[in-house]
Amino acid sequence: MSPDRPTPPEYETDTPVTYSTENQVAWLMMNRARFNNAQNSQMTYALDDAFQRAVNDPEVKAIVLGGEGKHFSAGHDIGTPGRDVDSAFPRRLLWEDHTTKPGAEYLYTREHEQYLGMCRRWRDCPKPTIAMVQGACVAGGLMLAWVCDLIVASDDAFFQDPVIRMGIPGVEYFAHAFELPPRIAKEFLLLGERMPAARAAHFGMVNKVVPRDDLQSAVQGWAETLAERPSLGSWLTKQAVNHIEDLRGKRTGMDAAYHMHHFAHAQNELVSGDRLSGLDAAGMARANKAAEQDKG
Ligand code: ZN
Repeated sequence: MSPDRPTPPEYETDTPVTYSTENQVAWLMMNRARFNNAQNSQMTYALDDAFQRAVNDPEVKAIVLGGEGKHFSAGHDIGTPGRDVDSAFPRRLLWEDHTTKPGAEYLYTREHEQYLGMCRRWRDCPKPTIAMVQGACVAGGLMLAWVCDLIVASDDAFFQDPVIRMGIPGVEYFAHAFELPPRIAKEFLLLGERMPAARAAHFGMVNKVVPRDDLQSAVQGWAETLAERPSLGSWLTKQAVNHIEDLRGKRTGMDAAYHMHHFAHAQNELVSGDRLSGLDAAGMARANKAAEQDKG
């Protein structure tokens, strides 16, 4: 079993993701605004349900993924009362239940399903997708934006992967060096600093930056345009580009990085007794704040 004492999660909502449709567009909205849409397993499986629902509905021709509140996503849940790393859920991929696994196999199995596996599944969804990003898009939040075909961000959005503080080489879905030129990806990961939306757009990681008040209408406009395109044509088009990315090594590179990621988790556990090197949400927030102040 995990050396961590499992504490039963206290969920603040039964609907961590809301689902609605309008004009052939499905809107999947992360709904943990109180916790900056920190992604727990409850949310991950709700997201998967929502993607499935949108794919299964023949009336839906395009999908938007967004977050309620001030921020798109603060990343994986590493410190809310609803943190449920130790909870078992019915799997969507053909993996075993992680909660029965010893040592490093525990997190390796869980993240294979819930992070790497689920993200790949959503990326390959046959309908065109848009991420609607405002405020923070941090660490695990990046993965949710990156799996979408297009990213529209508000001018107050920023992107950051600060997990080097935990001795970890980036989040599980390691698209950094595909989303950004390699040297910029190194800067992004090694320094772990915030990248404003405008700079992210400069490197092609974001398609469009709009004022905060215009974000929803800008996304709606594009989503409705996507919905008018022939469905099969959209599916083939995104598959073609995804295939080119995979030919360039995205999938195999991610597989390699995933194993480095888990070597780092295991090393943390061996050295400090904690897979995250003793840094929870509050610890990460404090470290980030101190670093921002140092920059002056
Ligand atoms: Zn991890």
